[in-house]
Amino acid sequence: MRRSYSSYWCAHSLQPSYPQPPATRPGYPQNAVRVHPAHHRSGYSLRHGHSRRYRRYRRFRLLLPARRRRGDRARHSLRPPSDVVTVGRIGSRSVAFIPRHGRDHRFPPHRIPYRANLWALRSLGVRQVVAPSAVGSLRAEYGPGAIVVPDQLVDRTSGRPQTYYDVDGAVHVSFADPYCPTGRSTAVAAARAGDWQTVDGGTLVVIEGPRFSTRAESQWFAGNGWSIVGMTGFPEAILARELALCYTSISLVTDHDAGVEAGQGVTHDEVLEFFAQNVTRMRTLVAETVQSLPEERTCPCGSALDGIKLPFELP
Ligand SMILES: [Zn+2]
Repeated sequence: MRRSYSSYWCAHSLQPSYPQPPATRPGYPQNAVRVHPAHHRSGYSLRHGHSRRYRRYRRFRLLLPARRRRGDRARHSLRPPSDVVTVGRIGSRSVAFIPRHGRDHRFPPHRIPYRANLWALRSLGVRQVVAPSAVGSLRAEYGPGAIVVPDQLVDRTSGRPQTYYDVDGAVHVSFADPYCPTGRSTAVAAARAGDWQTVDGGTLVVIEGPRFSTRAESQWFAGNGWSIVGMTGFPEAILARELALCYTSISLVTDHDAGVEAGQGVTHDEVLEFFAQNVTRMRTLVAETVQSLPEERTCPCGSALDGIKLPFELP
């Protein structure tokens, strides 16, 4: 059934019931008007110069009973996943699917609720995550149509929440090797069997976006020996690790990035057009990878949190 996702709360109400991630900044509603801490404490400070929106917000808050206000805060600090999670089977395997940009592609890369997405998957019992994405190539030797299964990652994003553990103590998880070794070898074998030009290993640079890189940035990335550039691989990878999930990136090269291309650089339309042409093949590749993943995990991903005291229980 096609549903309307016109509003935030509408999407929220459609979620299956699973535990929600903990409120990470209990003092502040994240999508409400920010209130200066001094004003918070003074209780009543409708000064000249405050906007009408702020005054209305302030009046609204003062009218609410304290308990309801607290509930309001907790609810605002959580975001629902990008979309309703689809649960089904591929062969003998149970799978859950979340379109990370939403079905109507309404979340740009820097606005994707990465924490909610991974939390939702873990809550549903998912332990192995396969993450396909479109990337630009920083190497002349492979261009559009190549599949890269990276083994390293460089984070060039900024301002994205990248941990679940930002209250009640520090949790430091190892991230030296960000991808699941078993997932990687499975994806590489599936891509080779599917006749893709396959690159086993390489470094994915994740940029903040939504803009593409400048030529100088791109040349700098390439000069460092990095292989591909994308916008969604981080913080997904670290959030998966923080939940002790296996995480494997399957990156489809859609273009050469600005630094290795002689022309005008990549455009949005080129990327979408190329991805649309290859989407069926990509689906097959992901399905083959999922079916070939071992049911019992022997990789180190599942023990990523061993010996670490967590501030709350994982679902
Ligand atoms: Zn693993």
